[in-house]
Parts: sequence; C-alpha cells; structure tokens
Amino acid sequence: MVEMGVYNEKQREYDKEDFESLLSNIPAGVIIENESFEIEYMNEFMTRIFGNRVGKKCYELFAGRNNPCNPCPVDTIVKQGTGIFRYTTAGRDGGFYEIIASPLHHPDGSLSIIEIVRDITEQQKLDQMKNDFIHVVAHEMRTPLAAVIGFGDLLSLHSENLTDKQKYYIESIKNNSYKLKQLIDDLLDLSYLDAGMLKLEYDSVHLYEIVSEVLARRQLLIAEKNHEIDINISPALIIECDRQRITRVMENIIFNAIYYTDIDGKIRITAADHGDHILVSVSDNGIGISETDMPRIFDRFYMVDSSLTRHCDRIGVGLTMAKGYIELHGGEMWADSEIGMGSTFYFTLPKCKMNDDKHDCCRRDPCM
Ligand code: ADP
Repeated sequence: MVEMGVYNEKQREYDKEDFESLLSNIPAGVIIENESFEIEYMNEFMTRIFGNRVGKKCYELFAGRNNPCNPCPVDTIVKQGTGIFRYTTAGRDGGFYEIIASPLHHPDGSLSIIEIVRDITEQQKLDQMKNDFIHVVAHEMRTPLAAVIGFGDLLSLHSENLTDKQKYYIESIKNNSYKLKQLIDDLLDLSYLDAGMLKLEYDSVHLYEIVSEVLARRQLLIAEKNHEIDINISPALIIECDRQRITRVMENIIFNAIYYTDIDGKIRITAADHGDHILVSVSDNGIGISETDMPRIFDRFYMVDSSLTRHCDRIGVGLTMAKGYIELHGGEMWADSEIGMGSTFYFTLPKCKMNDDKHDCCRRDPCM
C-alpha cells in the first residue's frame, strides 16, 4: 500500500493499480523520459494524441525532428539537475500543449524527466482572438492619433502669441499624444511578436551609447531620487542588433530599476563580453520581487502592485516585450531578486546577426 502525502485518517490508501488507473484517467498528459531524450513512459492521455511512442526520442514526438531542439528544455534540466521548465509546443494533431518538465531523481542516482502536458488549444484560440482584437484596435488608433500629434506640433510651432495657459495646454496635448503613441506602438509590436511577424532591423550599435541616451532621458527622475548610477560597459563594445528594440529593452529595465528603488539607491549597469555573445545586467538595491511574483513578471499585463505604477502610464507589458525582443535576437532574458534587497535583470545577446550565414554560433531552431 502507498500513502499519499501527509497522513490524514480520512485519506484513502492507494495501491499500484489505483495509481495506474489514476494516471490513465487524469485529463492531462504524463510523460517520462531519460537523459538521452528517450521516452520511458506515456499515460493514456498522451497515447491517445501521439500514439504509443515509448522508446522514441521526445524531439521526434513533439517537433517531428531527427535531432534535439535548440535550446532544449530537457537538456537544461539534465545539466542543472533541478528546476522546473515550462514551455509550449504544437502537437502533431494540430493542437497546442503546455508542458511543465521537472527532474525525477531515482534511488539508484539516475535521472529522468517527468513532464506534465496540458491541452491549451482552446486557450490558444481565445488568446489569438484577443491578440487580433488588440492588433486591429491599435492599428485603427494610429491614423487619428497621427493627426492629433501633427496638429499639436503645428500649434506649438505657431504659439508665440499665445498665453502661458494656452501654451501649457498645447504641451499637454503633445506629451500625452506621444505617450499614447508609444503605448500603441508597444501593443502593435507585441501582436507582431506573437504572430512571429516582427522583423528586426540590424545595425552595428555601441551599447554604451544606448545606455547613455536612456539615462539622459531619465535624468530628472534619477536626480529627484538621488540614485548613484554605476556603468561598467566598454565604450568600444559593438553588437549587431536592432537599435530601436534594444533601446526599448534597456529603457524598460533601467526605468524599472530607477522607479522601484527608494531614494539614495544604487543602480549598476554592466556588459561582459563572452566572445560570441554579451551578458548585460542591470541591478538595483530597490524593493525587490517576491518569490510568488517572480515567475509571472515576464507575463503580459502582469504588474506586482498596480498602485505603484498607476501614475506612470505602465500597463505591465514592458518586460514581456523586452524578453520577446531579446529572444528574437537569439538571446535569453531572466531575473534574480530578493524582496527588500533588490533585483538584477540579465540578458544575453549574440554579437552577430541571428542565423547569419557567416556565423554558425548564432544559428538556432527553437522548438518552443
Ligand atoms: P510595466 O511595463 O508596467 O513597467 P514590466 O513588465 O516592466 O511592467 O514589469 C512588470 C512588473 O515587474 C512591474 O509591475 C513591477 O512590479 C515588477 N518589476 C519590474 N522590474 C522591477 C524592479 N527592478 N524592482 C522591483 N520590481 C520590478
């Protein structure tokens, strides 16, 4: 007999057969594979969708490939031996599946990977409808907004005979219409990212220049908060990237570091050259992020405490977009944080263009 979890007298005891029936009847897939990506076990849910593929490699099952995906979530778990990995994949049946993978340590010291597979096809369809809606609305708002911005600019060009109050109104129209434009551009970029339609415009860029521009734009806030900013980036460091998008990434994580750090804070911005890629980090000694919020901060529209951001035109898409832009460049983005102690946001960027014929180092073909 097997006891489940903490003993409680009302709790039933389950034997091996009960577990087999339980695994067969749960409305989710369970799959176990070994360190060589070979499938060792599939429950009925999985067999119904994919057929019995025990003994086959997971990349054949999910991605219909002959070699491991790059990057490979299973490989990451095997290398780390700990951790949970969440990713989504398209099934051979045309559906979409969310897979949560974690290590399964056997008493003999060997390691398998257990994956829980959830059918998210319906959720994906609803998501698609929501994204289409956002895309259409954002697109339709662009034309009338261009008129507001254009006439606002024109008014301010001919404002010399206006009263201070009238000039203030015009400035207010201009500032707010520019903010609205930024918001609409972000929403459109997000929908293009989702649809895999965002095209990067590569350029040779000095990262130091981007950081200096971003800091110059936030000079007032930095002075108001009396933050100490330490930049450790070589002015000679050049990367091939989409200047506008990487500027948005830096703008977002630097603004967050300034905003979520109390007065007299310390912010450190570094970039280390690792040969074929660079590692950038922005750390602060601000309010930090709790363990509960941490897994969700890159989710769209997620704000830990909206009362903190209500007055600064943020809608919780900054990190979602930053991660999307970095991944599109072939890099990765993640964060470390401790509540009350501060946060560090990291990203890597290949130094050369993704899938450039001249550079094998940056060729990737992700399955996720
Ligand atoms: P927004 O676009 O609204 O700023 P983000 O996607 O940039 O949203 O950030 C999501 C949430 O992550 C924020 O609402 C904030 O609570 C948290 N966050 C981001 N950066 C930091 C940081 N440096 N320190 C503390 N919290 C942060």
